[in-house]
Amino acid sequence: MIQQHMYCNGCHRDVRVLMTDPVEEDAQANVRDPELICLEIGEWCNGQLCPLGASAPSAMVTRLIHSGLPLDSLTTVRRFCQDCGVDSDFALYGGNMESCVVCGTSRLRLKAD
Ligand SMILES: [Zn+2]
Repeated sequence: MIQQHMYCNGCHRDVRVLMTDPVEEDAQANVRDPELICLEIGEWCNGQLCPLGASAPSAMVTRLIHSGLPLDSLTTVRRFCQDCGVDSDFALYGGNMESCVVCGTSRLRLKAD
C-alpha cells in the first residue's frame, strides 16, 4: 500500500490517503482497481461525495475499517450499535453523521443529551 498526500476539494486541505494494492482475484479475472482510502475522514468532511475516492464518506469509513489499519485518525464516541447489539465505537464525520467502526453501519448522529 502506498501512502501519499493529496489535496481534497471536499475539505480544502492536504490529507493523507492510502492507495490499496490491486487485488488479483484469479488469473482469468480482471484486476480490481486499487482503492483510495482517505485517512483523515472526519468532522471537516462536507458529508457529500468524497472527491478523492469518488464515494460517500460512509463508504470511505467502511473501507478504512475493512483495511485493518489503525483507526486512531478517527474521532470516535462510544455508543450502542443496534446492528452489533453491543456498545461500539462510532466514527464521527460529515458534521452530522456517524459510522460504527465494527460493522460499518452509517447513520445520522444521535443527539447528545
Ligand atoms: Zn455496529
